[in-house]
Amino acid sequence: MSRIVDLYRQMAELTNAVCAKCPVPYRCCEDAGCAQAMAWTETVEQVNLTADKTHIPFLEDDGCILPAHFRPLCSIWLCKDAVKPPGYAELLREIAEAEKERLRT
Ligand code: SF4
Ligand code: SF4
Repeated sequence: MSRIVDLYRQMAELTNAVCAKCPVPYRCCEDAGCAQAMAWTETVEQVNLTADKTHIPFLEDDGCILPAHFRPLCSIWLCKDAVKPPGYAELLREIAEAEKERLRT
């Protein structure tokens, strides 16, 4: 597994644990989020995602079904009211560095 894939995986584990306990779990998921994930994945990963439904197509009862690196903006997202879990800030820095490196190569 590449470093950046692993970083996003770790980050999504942190944020998913917070959002699963939200009064309305995963309420920040929306059609636009799924659309940006599709666009990112097509551009960066050269993978064309398909979906069986049109409304928030990648959200299931226990969260998003996409790998964390296919939906980077969702994976790092926490609302302003969420308590950032330990390690969040450090992972965010590492992801930023890894994305900068990816842009350079
Ligand atoms: S980001 Fe905040 S509001 Fe959105 S699902 Fe997570 S905890 Fe809930
Ligand atoms: S986390 Fe998944 S289901 Fe939620 S908006 Fe992002 S891509 Fe869609």
